[in-house]
Amino acid sequence: MSVDPIPFLDLGRAQRELHAGLDEAWRSVTRSARFVGGPFVEAFEEAWAVEHGIEHAVGVANGTDALELVLRGLGVGPGDEVVVPANTFIATAEAVLAVGAVPHFVDVDPETLLVTPETVAEGITDRTAAVIVVHLYGQAADVPGIAALAARTGAVVVEDCAQAQGARWDGRPVGTMGVAGCTSFYPGKNLGAFGDGGAVITRDASLARAVRRYGDHGRSEVFKYEHPVVGRNSRLDALQAAVLLVKLPHLEDWNFQRRAAAEQYRSRLAGDEAVELVKQDPSSTSVHHLMVVRVEDRDRVQADLTAAGIGTAVHYPVPCHQQKDYTMLPRTCVEETERSSPRLLSLPMFPGITRDEVDRACDELVATVRARG
Ligand SMILES: *Cc1c(COP(=O)(O)O)cnc(C)c1O
Repeated sequence: MSVDPIPFLDLGRAQRELHAGLDEAWRSVTRSARFVGGPFVEAFEEAWAVEHGIEHAVGVANGTDALELVLRGLGVGPGDEVVVPANTFIATAEAVLAVGAVPHFVDVDPETLLVTPETVAEGITDRTAAVIVVHLYGQAADVPGIAALAARTGAVVVEDCAQAQGARWDGRPVGTMGVAGCTSFYPGKNLGAFGDGGAVITRDASLARAVRRYGDHGRSEVFKYEHPVVGRNSRLDALQAAVLLVKLPHLEDWNFQRRAAAEQYRSRLAGDEAVELVKQDPSSTSVHHLMVVRVEDRDRVQADLTAAGIGTAVHYPVPCHQQKDYTMLPRTCVEETERSSPRLLSLPMFPGITRDEVDRACDELVATVRARG
C-alpha cells in the first residue's frame, strides 16, 4: 500500500497537460502589451457568456467585487437589507456591507446545507432589496423557487456561483436564473486563474453596463475621462483572461472528474452511520467544489487524518453571523447552521484525484470515526 500523503487540494495535477498552452497564452499577452482590457479580456468575456448561453459577461477583479458591483448596479444601498445565508464564505456578506446595505442572515436546509424558499422567507422584511443565493460546495440551490418568493415583495435574486462553475438546476446553468450570476476565479475554484479574478453574467444590458462602469472608475462610455458616477477600480487582467481562455475548455471534464470522485466517496461512505453526507437535491447537477461530510468530534477526526497523511479543511468553522464584526447584524433562527458548523469536514477533492486516493481517504476516515464511536 502506498503511503504518499493525499493533499486536500492539488492544483497542479489537472493543469499539467496544459503547460504548453498556458505558456503560449502568457507570451501572447506579453507581446500584445495590452494588460488591462483589450482582446484577451473581451475574448474571455465572450466565451464566458457563451458558456452560459447568456447575453452579457463582465470581467472584474475578484468574486467579492462581482457581488458588490452587481448590488451597486441594482441600486442596493443604505436602508436596504439583503438576505444572505449564514452558512457561506464571508465574502457574500462583505459585498453587502461594502455597498452600505445590511446582510440579513438566514438558515440553511439541514440536509443540503443550502438556502431554500422556506429559510429565505423567514429573512424577508419590508427592507429586503435582494437575496443572494449561494450555490455552496458546488451544489445548485433552488433559485426559481426563491426568486418567485422574493418577487412577491419586489426583491431580486443575485446568484453567488463562486463554488459552482458549471453546476445546473433542472438543467439551467447557475448564474442564469437570477438577475445576475457572480463568480470568482480565485485559483482554488473549479475554474481558477493564476491570481484573483471574477465575472458577472446577466441578461440585463443596463445592469451589465452599470457593473462595467462602476468597476472602471465610473467612466462614461464615450469620454474616457468623464466620470458620471463614482466608481472604483475592479477589472479582470489580460493575463488572467488569457489563462482562463486556455482552462475554460477543460472545465466540463474537470467537473466530470470531481463528480466521479464524489460518487465514489458517497457510495463508500453511505453505509457508515458515523459519517453524514450532504444530501444532493435531484434537481441539482453538482460540480462538487468541496466534498463536505459531517462527523462528531470533528477536530480530533481531522487531527487523526492529518497524522495519517490525509489533507482536509473546514468550510466554514465559524458561521458569518458569529464573526466578530457581524454579530450585531439581523438574522433569523440559524440553528441548523450552528448545529452543522462544528461537525463539518471537507475531504480531498480536485480533478486528477485517483480512485486509490479516494479509497484511502475513506478508509482512514471510517477507521478514525469507528475508533471513536
Ligand atoms: C470564493 C468565494 C467568494 C469570493 O471570491 P473572491 O474571488 O475570493 O473574492 C464569494 N463567495 C463564495 C461562496 C466563495 O466561495
